[in-house]
Amino acid sequence: MSRTSRIVVGIALLFQCTLLIAKPLVIAHRGASGYLPEHTLEAAILAYSQGADYIEQDLVLSKDGVPVVLHDIHLESVTNVEQVFPKRARKDGRYYAIDFTLTELQTLHKHERTDAQGQQVFSGRYQGMSTFKIATFEQHIQLINQLNRQFKKQVGIYPEIKSPAWHKTQGADISQIVVDILRRYDLDRLESNVFVQCFDFAETKRLRNELGVKVKLVQLIAENSWAESTSDYNYLRTASGLAEIAKVAQGIGPWMPQLFDLQAMQPTQLASLAKQQGLQIHPYTFRADALPEGLTTQSTLNILFNILKVDGVFTDFTDVVISHLDATKQP
Ligand code: CA
Repeated sequence: MSRTSRIVVGIALLFQCTLLIAKPLVIAHRGASGYLPEHTLEAAILAYSQGADYIEQDLVLSKDGVPVVLHDIHLESVTNVEQVFPKRARKDGRYYAIDFTLTELQTLHKHERTDAQGQQVFSGRYQGMSTFKIATFEQHIQLINQLNRQFKKQVGIYPEIKSPAWHKTQGADISQIVVDILRRYDLDRLESNVFVQCFDFAETKRLRNELGVKVKLVQLIAENSWAESTSDYNYLRTASGLAEIAKVAQGIGPWMPQLFDLQAMQPTQLASLAKQQGLQIHPYTFRADALPEGLTTQSTLNILFNILKVDGVFTDFTDVVISHLDATKQP
Protein backbone atom coordinates (compact mmCIF):
# COMPACT_ATOMS: atom_id res chain seq x y z
CA MET A 1 0.00 0.00 0.00
CA SER A 2 1.42 3.39 -0.94
CA ARG A 3 1.97 6.04 1.70
CA THR A 4 -0.92 8.11 0.31
CA SER A 5 -3.38 5.22 0.40
CA ARG A 6 -2.28 4.36 3.96
CA ILE A 7 -3.05 7.95 4.94
CA VAL A 8 -6.44 7.79 3.21
CA VAL A 9 -7.31 4.52 5.00
CA GLY A 10 -6.13 6.05 8.29
CA ILE A 11 -8.33 9.10 7.84
CA ALA A 12 -11.29 6.91 6.89
CA LEU A 13 -10.84 4.80 10.05
CA LEU A 14 -10.56 7.91 12.20
CA PHE A 15 -13.76 9.27 10.63
CA GLN A 16 -15.54 5.97 11.30
CA CYS A 17 -14.44 6.02 14.95
CA THR A 18 -15.78 9.54 15.47
CA LEU A 19 -19.08 8.42 13.95
CA LEU A 20 -19.25 5.46 16.34
CA ILE A 21 -18.74 7.66 19.41
CA ALA A 22 -21.98 9.62 19.22
CA LYS A 23 -21.89 13.07 20.75
CA PRO A 24 -24.07 13.21 23.87
CA LEU A 25 -27.38 14.99 23.38
CA VAL A 26 -27.78 18.34 25.05
CA ILE A 27 -31.41 18.57 26.18
CA ALA A 28 -32.52 22.07 27.15
CA HIS A 29 -34.41 21.44 30.38
CA ARG A 30 -37.52 23.69 30.24
CA GLY A 31 -35.65 25.69 27.56
CA ALA A 32 -32.73 27.92 28.57
CA SER A 33 -34.27 28.01 32.03
CA GLY A 34 -31.00 29.07 33.65
CA TYR A 35 -31.47 32.48 32.00
CA LEU A 36 -35.16 33.10 31.20
CA PRO A 37 -38.40 31.96 32.85
CA GLU A 38 -38.84 28.23 32.21
CA HIS A 39 -40.90 26.92 29.31
CA THR A 40 -41.56 30.30 27.69
CA LEU A 41 -41.13 30.65 23.92
CA GLU A 42 -38.29 33.07 24.70
CA ALA A 43 -36.49 30.40 26.76
CA ALA A 44 -36.94 27.95 23.87
CA ILE A 45 -35.48 30.46 21.38
CA LEU A 46 -32.48 31.10 23.62
CA ALA A 47 -31.86 27.35 24.06
CA TYR A 48 -32.14 26.96 20.28
CA SER A 49 -29.57 29.68 19.66
CA GLN A 50 -27.25 28.21 22.31
CA GLY A 51 -27.18 25.02 20.23
CA ALA A 52 -29.41 22.56 22.11
CA ASP A 53 -30.09 19.23 20.37
CA TYR A 54 -33.50 18.91 22.00
CA ILE A 55 -35.78 21.36 23.79
CA GLU A 56 -38.02 20.06 26.56
CA GLN A 57 -41.73 20.83 26.99
CA ASP A 58 -43.52 19.68 30.15
CA LEU A 59 -47.23 19.40 29.35
CA VAL A 60 -50.41 19.88 31.35
CA LEU A 61 -53.94 20.52 30.08
CA SER A 62 -56.06 23.67 30.16
CA LYS A 63 -59.78 23.52 31.00
CA ASP A 64 -60.54 23.35 27.27
CA GLY A 65 -58.17 20.42 26.77
CA VAL A 66 -55.20 22.25 25.23
CA PRO A 67 -51.71 21.04 26.23
CA VAL A 68 -49.79 24.01 27.61
CA VAL A 69 -46.12 24.05 28.45
CA LEU A 70 -45.94 24.13 32.25
CA HIS A 71 -43.98 22.02 34.70
CA ASP A 72 -46.70 21.83 37.35
CA ILE A 73 -50.44 21.21 37.44
CA HIS A 74 -50.47 24.34 39.67
CA LEU A 75 -49.90 27.90 38.46
CA GLU A 76 -48.85 30.05 41.39
CA SER A 77 -45.11 29.19 41.47
CA VAL A 78 -44.52 30.56 37.96
CA THR A 79 -47.35 33.06 37.23
CA ASN A 80 -49.26 35.99 38.75
CA VAL A 81 -52.52 33.97 38.86
CA GLU A 82 -53.27 35.06 42.47
CA GLN A 83 -53.42 38.70 41.34
CA VAL A 84 -55.41 38.14 38.14
CA PHE A 85 -57.89 35.52 39.38
CA PRO A 86 -57.86 35.86 43.21
CA LYS A 87 -61.10 33.90 43.64
CA ARG A 88 -60.21 30.90 41.52
CA ALA A 89 -58.13 28.81 43.97
CA ARG A 90 -59.48 25.44 45.00
CA LYS A 91 -60.19 24.62 48.66
CA ASP A 92 -56.54 23.66 49.16
CA GLY A 93 -55.53 27.21 48.22
CA ARG A 94 -53.87 26.13 44.96
CA TYR A 95 -54.61 27.39 41.45
CA TYR A 96 -54.87 24.53 38.94
CA ALA A 97 -54.08 25.07 35.26
CA ILE A 98 -56.96 22.74 34.36
CA ASP A 99 -59.47 25.16 35.97
CA PHE A 100 -58.60 27.88 33.41
CA THR A 101 -59.30 28.10 29.69
CA LEU A 102 -56.41 28.68 27.34
CA THR A 103 -57.60 32.27 26.81
CA GLU A 104 -57.50 32.84 30.57
CA LEU A 105 -54.10 31.19 30.95
CA GLN A 106 -52.67 33.42 28.24
CA THR A 107 -53.63 36.57 30.16
CA LEU A 108 -51.20 35.58 32.94
CA HIS A 109 -47.63 36.80 33.27
CA LYS A 110 -44.98 34.18 33.75
CA HIS A 111 -42.04 34.77 36.09
CA GLU A 112 -39.06 32.94 37.56
CA ARG A 113 -40.03 30.02 39.77
CA THR A 114 -40.75 31.03 43.37
CA ASP A 115 -41.10 28.97 46.55
CA ALA A 116 -44.03 28.93 49.00
CA GLN A 117 -42.70 32.13 50.61
CA GLY A 118 -42.61 33.91 47.24
CA GLN A 119 -38.80 33.90 47.06
CA GLN A 120 -37.04 33.09 43.79
CA VAL A 121 -35.85 29.47 43.88
CA PHE A 122 -32.67 30.32 41.93
CA SER A 123 -31.84 33.81 43.14
CA GLY A 124 -29.28 34.64 40.46
CA ARG A 125 -31.60 33.98 37.54
CA TYR A 126 -33.92 36.31 35.62
CA GLN A 127 -35.53 38.89 37.90
CA GLY A 128 -37.92 40.77 35.58
CA MET A 129 -41.68 40.43 35.23
CA SER A 130 -44.50 41.13 32.76
CA THR A 131 -42.91 40.08 29.46
CA PHE A 132 -43.53 36.37 29.40
CA LYS A 133 -46.62 34.26 28.68
CA ILE A 134 -47.71 30.64 28.93
CA ALA A 135 -47.36 28.96 25.52
CA THR A 136 -49.08 25.93 24.06
CA PHE A 137 -47.35 22.73 22.95
CA GLU A 138 -48.29 23.55 19.35
CA GLN A 139 -46.73 27.01 19.58
CA HIS A 140 -43.47 25.39 20.67
CA ILE A 141 -43.63 22.81 17.85
CA GLN A 142 -44.33 25.49 15.25
CA LEU A 143 -41.57 27.74 16.56
CA ILE A 144 -38.94 24.98 16.47
CA ASN A 145 -40.16 23.79 13.03
CA GLN A 146 -39.77 27.29 11.62
CA LEU A 147 -36.32 27.81 13.14
CA ASN A 148 -35.24 24.40 11.84
CA ARG A 149 -36.43 25.27 8.34
CA GLN A 150 -34.63 28.60 8.27
CA PHE A 151 -31.39 27.49 9.92
CA LYS A 152 -31.41 24.09 8.17
CA LYS A 153 -31.12 22.33 11.52
CA GLN A 154 -32.98 19.43 13.10
CA VAL A 155 -33.39 20.45 16.72
CA GLY A 156 -35.80 18.05 18.38
CA ILE A 157 -38.58 18.30 20.93
CA TYR A 158 -38.71 16.36 24.19
CA PRO A 159 -42.29 16.57 25.58
CA GLU A 160 -43.15 15.19 29.01
CA ILE A 161 -46.66 13.99 29.77
CA LYS A 162 -47.28 15.30 33.29
CA SER A 163 -49.41 13.49 35.88
CA PRO A 164 -51.53 11.39 33.47
CA ALA A 165 -53.29 9.59 36.36
CA TRP A 166 -54.22 12.91 37.98
CA HIS A 167 -55.48 14.25 34.63
CA LYS A 168 -57.68 11.16 34.39
CA THR A 169 -59.26 11.98 37.78
CA GLN A 170 -60.14 15.37 36.25
CA GLY A 171 -61.79 13.63 33.31
CA ALA A 172 -59.02 14.30 30.78
CA ASP A 173 -56.82 11.93 28.74
CA ILE A 174 -53.67 14.01 28.33
CA SER A 175 -51.70 11.26 26.56
CA GLN A 176 -54.28 10.79 23.81
CA ILE A 177 -54.42 14.56 23.21
CA VAL A 178 -50.62 14.87 23.02
CA VAL A 179 -50.36 11.85 20.72
CA ASP A 180 -53.03 13.32 18.40
CA ILE A 181 -50.94 16.52 18.12
CA LEU A 182 -47.72 14.59 17.41
CA ARG A 183 -49.54 12.69 14.66
CA ARG A 184 -50.98 15.87 13.18
CA TYR A 185 -47.42 17.20 12.82
CA ASP A 186 -46.22 13.83 11.47
CA LEU A 187 -43.92 13.40 14.46
CA ASP A 188 -45.12 10.02 15.75
CA ARG A 189 -42.30 8.15 14.05
CA LEU A 190 -39.36 6.26 15.55
CA GLU A 191 -36.90 8.27 13.45
CA SER A 192 -38.33 11.72 14.18
CA ASN A 193 -36.31 13.94 16.51
CA VAL A 194 -38.74 13.45 19.35
CA PHE A 195 -38.53 11.71 22.71
CA VAL A 196 -41.73 11.47 24.76
CA GLN A 197 -41.06 11.11 28.49
CA CYS A 198 -43.22 10.18 31.45
CA PHE A 199 -42.69 9.30 35.14
CA ASP A 200 -45.71 6.98 35.18
CA PHE A 201 -44.61 3.55 33.92
CA ALA A 202 -48.20 2.34 33.47
CA GLU A 203 -48.70 5.28 31.10
CA THR A 204 -45.44 4.64 29.21
CA LYS A 205 -46.67 1.09 28.58
CA ARG A 206 -50.12 2.39 27.60
CA LEU A 207 -48.57 4.83 25.11
CA ARG A 208 -46.72 2.02 23.36
CA ASN A 209 -49.19 -0.86 23.73
CA GLU A 210 -52.65 0.76 23.70
CA LEU A 211 -52.19 4.07 21.92
CA GLY A 212 -49.71 2.41 19.55
CA VAL A 213 -47.20 5.24 19.41
CA LYS A 214 -44.13 4.78 17.23
CA VAL A 215 -42.14 7.69 18.66
CA LYS A 216 -39.15 7.15 20.99
CA LEU A 217 -40.17 6.87 24.65
CA VAL A 218 -38.15 7.60 27.77
CA GLN A 219 -39.12 6.29 31.19
CA LEU A 220 -38.29 8.84 33.85
CA ILE A 221 -37.03 7.45 37.15
CA ALA A 222 -37.95 9.25 40.38
CA GLU A 223 -37.48 8.28 44.02
CA ASN A 224 -40.50 6.52 45.53
CA SER A 225 -40.55 9.13 48.33
CA TRP A 226 -41.36 11.92 45.84
CA ALA A 227 -44.79 10.38 45.08
CA GLU A 228 -44.50 11.30 41.38
CA SER A 229 -46.73 8.38 40.40
CA THR A 230 -47.69 4.94 41.67
CA SER A 231 -44.75 3.37 39.77
CA ASP A 232 -42.20 1.51 41.92
CA TYR A 233 -38.94 3.21 41.01
CA ASN A 234 -36.86 0.87 43.21
CA TYR A 235 -38.07 -2.00 41.04
CA LEU A 236 -37.63 -0.09 37.78
CA ARG A 237 -33.93 0.39 38.63
CA THR A 238 -33.33 -3.38 38.91
CA ALA A 239 -32.24 -5.61 36.02
CA SER A 240 -35.77 -7.01 35.60
CA GLY A 241 -37.37 -3.57 35.91
CA LEU A 242 -35.05 -2.22 33.22
CA ALA A 243 -35.77 -5.25 31.01
CA GLU A 244 -39.46 -4.42 31.31
CA ILE A 245 -38.78 -0.78 30.40
CA ALA A 246 -36.74 -1.88 27.37
CA LYS A 247 -39.81 -3.67 25.95
CA VAL A 248 -41.58 -0.35 25.46
CA ALA A 249 -39.04 2.47 25.69
CA GLN A 250 -35.75 3.56 24.12
CA GLY A 251 -34.27 5.13 27.21
CA ILE A 252 -34.42 6.12 30.84
CA GLY A 253 -34.30 9.54 32.45
CA PRO A 254 -32.81 8.95 35.91
CA TRP A 255 -31.94 11.45 38.63
CA MET A 256 -28.17 11.93 38.53
CA PRO A 257 -27.54 10.65 42.12
CA GLN A 258 -29.20 7.37 41.10
CA LEU A 259 -26.37 6.87 38.58
CA PHE A 260 -23.49 8.11 40.70
CA ASP A 261 -23.08 7.68 44.45
CA LEU A 262 -21.90 11.10 45.57
CA GLN A 263 -20.77 9.82 48.99
CA ALA A 264 -18.67 6.95 47.67
CA MET A 265 -17.81 8.98 44.54
CA GLN A 266 -18.38 6.02 42.26
CA PRO A 267 -21.03 4.86 39.77
CA THR A 268 -23.98 2.83 40.99
CA GLN A 269 -25.01 -0.24 38.96
CA LEU A 270 -27.78 1.62 37.17
CA ALA A 271 -25.87 2.84 34.10
CA SER A 272 -24.34 -0.56 33.32
CA LEU A 273 -27.64 -2.38 33.92
CA ALA A 274 -29.46 0.05 31.61
CA LYS A 275 -26.79 -0.28 28.93
CA GLN A 276 -27.13 -4.08 29.07
CA GLN A 277 -30.77 -3.56 28.04
CA GLY A 278 -29.74 -1.23 25.21
CA LEU A 279 -31.43 1.72 26.89
CA GLN A 280 -30.19 5.24 26.33
CA ILE A 281 -29.47 7.20 29.50
CA HIS A 282 -30.53 10.87 29.79
CA PRO A 283 -30.13 12.01 33.42
CA TYR A 284 -31.59 15.18 34.94
CA THR A 285 -30.59 17.91 35.74
CA PHE A 286 -27.27 19.71 35.26
CA ARG A 287 -27.54 23.18 36.82
CA ALA A 288 -24.41 25.34 36.86
CA ASP A 289 -25.91 27.36 39.74
CA ALA A 290 -26.99 24.34 41.85
CA LEU A 291 -24.22 21.76 41.59
CA PRO A 292 -24.04 18.60 43.70
CA GLU A 293 -22.21 19.33 46.96
CA GLY A 294 -18.44 19.32 46.59
CA LEU A 295 -18.52 19.20 42.79
CA THR A 296 -17.69 21.84 40.19
CA THR A 297 -19.14 22.29 36.71
CA GLN A 298 -16.13 20.49 35.25
CA SER A 299 -16.14 17.57 37.71
CA THR A 300 -19.91 17.07 37.36
CA LEU A 301 -19.78 17.03 33.57
CA ASN A 302 -16.70 14.82 33.66
CA ILE A 303 -18.62 12.27 35.77
CA LEU A 304 -21.56 12.37 33.37
CA PHE A 305 -19.72 12.18 30.08
CA ASN A 306 -16.40 10.42 30.83
CA ILE A 307 -17.20 8.10 33.73
CA LEU A 308 -20.89 7.27 33.24
CA LYS A 309 -20.79 7.91 29.47
CA VAL A 310 -24.42 9.00 29.37
CA ASP A 311 -26.14 9.48 26.02
CA GLY A 312 -27.55 12.89 26.85
CA VAL A 313 -28.22 15.24 29.72
CA PHE A 314 -31.04 17.53 30.75
CA THR A 315 -29.63 20.94 31.57
CA ASP A 316 -30.83 24.44 32.48
CA PHE A 317 -27.51 25.64 30.98
CA THR A 318 -27.20 24.40 27.39
CA ASP A 319 -24.36 26.84 26.72
CA VAL A 320 -22.21 25.58 29.63
CA VAL A 321 -22.60 21.93 28.60
CA ILE A 322 -21.80 22.67 24.96
CA SER A 323 -18.67 24.66 25.91
CA HIS A 324 -17.54 21.72 28.03
CA LEU A 325 -18.15 19.20 25.24
CA ASP A 326 -16.34 21.40 22.71
CA ALA A 327 -13.37 21.96 25.04
CA THR A 328 -12.99 18.25 25.86
CA LYS A 329 -13.61 16.94 22.32
CA GLN A 330 -11.04 14.35 21.25
CA PRO A 331 -8.87 15.71 18.43
CA1 CA B 1 -39.53 17.49 32.76
